[in-house]
Amino acid sequence: MPTYVYRCGDGCSDFTERHPMAAIPDSANCPGCGTGARRVIGTPALGASDPAAMRLHDATRATAETPAVVSNVPGRRRRATPVSSNPLHRKLPRP
Ligand SMILES: [Zn+2]
Repeated sequence: MPTYVYRCGDGCSDFTERHPMAAIPDSANCPGCGTGARRVIGTPALGASDPAAMRLHDATRATAETPAVVSNVPGRRRRATPVSSNPLHRKLPRP
């Protein structure tokens, strides 16, 4: 059964009640003062899950929106020695 939030018109704090979806009352008696309280449309509890799973979800979303910028292909190093030993090749224009 889902949980519904009710708000009292006399300034009492909000309270929750559980009702079947087929019979949702629009008002309920306030536990503080006994008067009728109207049902409030609230947000579903989507964040109420495993905290580690939520951190992983947030970290994955953050890297998808702002990927790390790299200057070269990871795992490959530039060659320290020249490709050719011919001294004329050094005079060729560089890209
Ligand atoms: Zn009340």
